[in-house]
Amino acid sequence: MATKRDYYDVLGVPKNAEASEIKKAYRRLAMKFHPDRNPDNPKAAEQKFKEVNEAYEVLSDPQKKAAYDQFGHAGVDPNMRGGAGAEGFGGFAEAFGDIFGDIFGGARGGTRGGGQQIFRGADLSYAMEVTLEEAATGKDAQIRIPSWDDCATCHGSGAKPGTSAQTCPTCHGHGVVQMRQGFFSVQQTCPRCHGSGKVIADPCPTCRGQGKTKSQKTLEVKIPPGIDDGMRIRSTGNGEPGANGGPPGDLYIEIRVKKHEIFERDGDDLHCVVPISFAQAALGGEIDVPTLNGKAAIEIPNGTQAGKQFRLRGKGIRGVRSSYPGDLYCHINVETPVNLTEFQRKLLKEFDESVRKGGAKHSPNEKKWTDKVKDFFNA
Ligand SMILES: [Zn+2]
Ligand SMILES: [Zn+2]
Repeated sequence: MATKRDYYDVLGVPKNAEASEIKKAYRRLAMKFHPDRNPDNPKAAEQKFKEVNEAYEVLSDPQKKAAYDQFGHAGVDPNMRGGAGAEGFGGFAEAFGDIFGDIFGGARGGTRGGGQQIFRGADLSYAMEVTLEEAATGKDAQIRIPSWDDCATCHGSGAKPGTSAQTCPTCHGHGVVQMRQGFFSVQQTCPRCHGSGKVIADPCPTCRGQGKTKSQKTLEVKIPPGIDDGMRIRSTGNGEPGANGGPPGDLYIEIRVKKHEIFERDGDDLHCVVPISFAQAALGGEIDVPTLNGKAAIEIPNGTQAGKQFRLRGKGIRGVRSSYPGDLYCHINVETPVNLTEFQRKLLKEFDESVRKGGAKHSPNEKKWTDKVKDFFNA
């Protein structure tokens, strides 16, 4: 991490500066470095602006200032600012909404006329079910999501046609109020206008004063190949709208992969159980097994035991971040024949007698096991 500049140096004030002096310095610098006022080099200006903001956020707060004076940067962690939009524009705007309007009130096209607080919209989440095949190959999907349009009746003002919204008398349009708590003065969202800075005496009947009406829109979503259950896709800006010109939230599409009839997925690998007959297991032979996109042949050697697994290299799924597909594991399940006819029973008994004559030659495991049991009882 780069070395941080001293907050007093950033604002160009002495360590014993009064609160009013700090605020004055901040306003001057915020105005100077605001990205809107530096069209030639907005990136550099934004850096400076953020630095100034950060310094002021600490030095304007008696508690944080005391911690900073005592412990330096270690005493105040700028990452602990809290709030939903801490890393985005929202966090900065929430912190500076109070004096924003004083500085830029008239200059920003009036959207933030009274210097109201602006808020980032909430994130939305959408659960989407896909089949295992779709998860493997990817999919272009269309989903219906909520969208908000400016109310057609009031054109977004929220006030009944013929009336207009008034500046909130509690916060005088600032959207925030200062509350005293013991020695400290803390800023709170105005309880009357909830930060909008306006009150609507006669709300629009269509949108009930919201200025927006909820409808639906279709969104094209690209599901990347290899996506797995529980993964999320972010669709930037498709969440709820922000308040007072704040940026919208994001939409998160949460993937649920439906249970498959045949395959179970484990990371990039697939597993399936292949039942074969007891005769097939004994005689061996080629069998067809399904894969996600067709079928493959497995050569079963004679004398294959239940539980044996065969790996089909590359017949699994290529994960979103993998360079190679995983494998398909076929687990052999030897099926004991059921509901035998008299004839079949007879054949099987004859067969068994023949096998028993051969003893360990045909049933090595059974022989080993009986020997162990004998030793156990004789010990
Ligand atoms: Zn309306
Ligand atoms: Zn208010």
